[in-house]
Amino acid sequence: MSFTINCIDCGHSAPYYPTSTTCPRCGSQWREAEYDYEAIARTLPGKLTSRRYDLWRYRELLPVRDPNVSLSLGEGCTPLIRAVNLGMMLGCPNIFIKDERQGPTSSFKDRQASVTIAALKEAGITEMVAASTGNVAISYSAYASRAGMKLWAFVTSLVPGVKMREIALYGSQVIKITGSYDQCKQVASEFARQRNLYQDMGARTITSIEAMKTIAFEIAEQLTAVLEPDSPMPWKTPDWYVQAISGGMGPIGVYKGFREMKNMGWIDRIPAFAPIQAEGCAPMVASWKKGLEKAETVTNPKTRIETLATGDPGRAYEFLRRIVNDTDGVFESVSDDDAFRAMHVLAKMEGISAEPAAGVAFAGLFKLIRAGIIKPSDTVVVNCTGHTMPADPSILGDNWSRDVKYPSAEETPQEGLLSALTQVAPERFPKIIIVEDTTEARRLIRRILQSQGNFTILEAGNGREGLDLIQRELPDLIILDLMMPEMDGFSVIEALRANQETAAIPVIVATAKELTQDEKGRLGGQIQALMQKGDFLNDEFLEEVKSLIK
Ligand SMILES: *Cc1c(COP(=O)(O)O)cnc(C)c1O
Ligand SMILES: [Zn+2]
Repeated sequence: MSFTINCIDCGHSAPYYPTSTTCPRCGSQWREAEYDYEAIARTLPGKLTSRRYDLWRYRELLPVRDPNVSLSLGEGCTPLIRAVNLGMMLGCPNIFIKDERQGPTSSFKDRQASVTIAALKEAGITEMVAASTGNVAISYSAYASRAGMKLWAFVTSLVPGVKMREIALYGSQVIKITGSYDQCKQVASEFARQRNLYQDMGARTITSIEAMKTIAFEIAEQLTAVLEPDSPMPWKTPDWYVQAISGGMGPIGVYKGFREMKNMGWIDRIPAFAPIQAEGCAPMVASWKKGLEKAETVTNPKTRIETLATGDPGRAYEFLRRIVNDTDGVFESVSDDDAFRAMHVLAKMEGISAEPAAGVAFAGLFKLIRAGIIKPSDTVVVNCTGHTMPADPSILGDNWSRDVKYPSAEETPQEGLLSALTQVAPERFPKIIIVEDTTEARRLIRRILQSQGNFTILEAGNGREGLDLIQRELPDLIILDLMMPEMDGFSVIEALRANQETAAIPVIVATAKELTQDEKGRLGGQIQALMQKGDFLNDEFLEEVKSLIK
């Protein structure tokens, strides 16, 4: 698949690499993927009928070179449901609900997480950081677990407990920041910078925008199937796209999807965009209504709907403002109470139980129809962005999150940030080296370790490489396979024991092989534990690891 990354500010184009997050020429963080649209326009429509029904059906238009089906949880291609009862109530018969609750972790962040994790996995990344108002971290956690990646999830203490526990359940480290979401993002970002970890950059993440655009492709394909099933392309588009926003990544991506389809001749027009915010944190709405080109920030959000609590939208506002203006759309805000009422209406009239953030979109829809801005004859798609899920408190026990207080006003912001960071995690984690020739086994061991504790994990694919790595890094613990090319585990152990620097490092031998008496004899006294590969699923393995790292 061929695509390039173009800088929105200086136009420079560069190849894609997920960890390079700025333009190599001007340093801008705002860049965009571009594909060979002419070729795709010719070939992709004919392929769609035989493709699986998930977001990878549009893979030629996604920034992943070789989509890894083993990571997929069936993301994308959520139903487009006609809201018959709401339509009757509101006198607007063509209201459709894009039901993103039906994604694998019940929110539309599954698109972002599935595409981003696929790209990161392709780039060999094994640890990442995300600040989140809940759903991003839940979704990234689910995909990270499949990909064998560790996620540091920074959330504000206002995120509902059920969501935090869901994150912890997937094996991510939850860091609870007492402070605003914008402060939480700062701490996460500094933590990632210091440890040189990949960090999700919200709307500036290429994969996130690209993932969100599949919503547009699906809406056009599904709407055509409902309204004009036998008509060839161009596909149908709605008159309106309505979504509750926080940072605005959703509509920015969805707009790009419509624009690409228009460029390729798949649709002949782009819908009007209606981003909706919660009144207590509506910097974009307020700034747009005042005609401002840059957003005024809200430093102290006053909404109970934490999912939407981005007070400082940064440049996302400039992009979204242009989208709204170019499509003859509107920004609108609604109160928390309006959103809660809309949730009830939606549940009672359409059988759809949405989370409060999605309620904001529906409250916005009601408001825009009553104001006559959305017309009775308009076709409207509302993104029902998410559904809350409970993880019972009793299954996790204690210690599943770490609490960090973003310090008070007496300290300078710099002092505050430093003191928050020292509360997040120690400077140095115990270092473990896995020496194992099968990639899958290495990934499994890594995943078991990283989902249950904080370790720095390094890997080697054969005995020779492993020995070099061990001598260079002097880890706290080695997990060693026996049967490997180049140099087998027995020889590695002998070499380790013969060298004073490495002689005392504890070794756990992990092997799929039944050992002979003779082999057991060769290991005797030289290693701390012997594990058959099937043993990894019991707690003994971690107990062993923890007791050896002291
Ligand atoms: C993230 C989120 C939003 C806001 O999305 P953005 O497009 O990033 O502003 C809305 N609703 C739910 C359920 C979300 O998880
Ligand atoms: Zn540039």
